[in-house]
Amino acid sequence: MASRSYAARVMVLRKRKLSESDLVLQLLKQDGSLVDAVAKGARKPTNTFATRMEVFNVCDCLLARGRNLDVLTEARVVSAREAVHAAPRLYYAAAPIADCISRTAQPDLAVERLFDMADAALEHLAHIDPAHAVVVPAAYLIKHVSLLGVRPGLFQCVTCGVDVRTHASTTPFSIEDGGVLCPECARERACIHLGTRMLGNCRLLLGSTFDQVVENPLAAQDAFDVLGFEHRWLRDQLGVSSKALQQLLSCTLFD
Ligand SMILES: [Zn+2]
Repeated sequence: MASRSYAARVMVLRKRKLSESDLVLQLLKQDGSLVDAVAKGARKPTNTFATRMEVFNVCDCLLARGRNLDVLTEARVVSAREAVHAAPRLYYAAAPIADCISRTAQPDLAVERLFDMADAALEHLAHIDPAHAVVVPAAYLIKHVSLLGVRPGLFQCVTCGVDVRTHASTTPFSIEDGGVLCPECARERACIHLGTRMLGNCRLLLGSTFDQVVENPLAAQDAFDVLGFEHRWLRDQLGVSSKALQQLLSCTLFD
């Protein structure tokens, strides 16, 4: 069978062993779609594919289309994320970004801006004070769900459309309707009560660039509160349960 080669800029999301000597890499392509590729011989000590194709790295690759898995034939590192791997807090903060992409992107389905957004998040993470790292996945995930078309309604009542601004400590929120409710609609709809401060921080992160997010990072506890909401939102709206996000939420590195 004639193999067809192609060049692609990719971000490495996952690595797993295939055999004694091979690795399977899950890659995010620049068009926002996923591809699985085998790196033959990558587990042999003399082979450098494994270090070049490290998780979170961006690489320019040559791949050959295969029947099941594409085959990696060349790789050049464009952005290495050694800093993220070297600091446990940065690694814990980066892992949910890769994991949520891995669980929501698909092969052959382009998602515009996904690659650039993930790359920007990881690049900013590599340079942030690790004590503030949690704000990066918190900002990334609200942007991620928005890109996928499941942004929670944070500004107007999801049933009647009036602006919802409250000085109360909690704001009614309808899981079923996917957003905040005004007091009148909240009387008639099933709702939960979310922290007004947390919702305000979601709005702030959604409307901020990563430069702004990193320049004025939220306090770690505020970022964790946003992540807790995002964890629930991913589960309720997309059926995604991210193990890496659970691990970040329960880790004690930021205490
Ligand atoms: Zn309403």
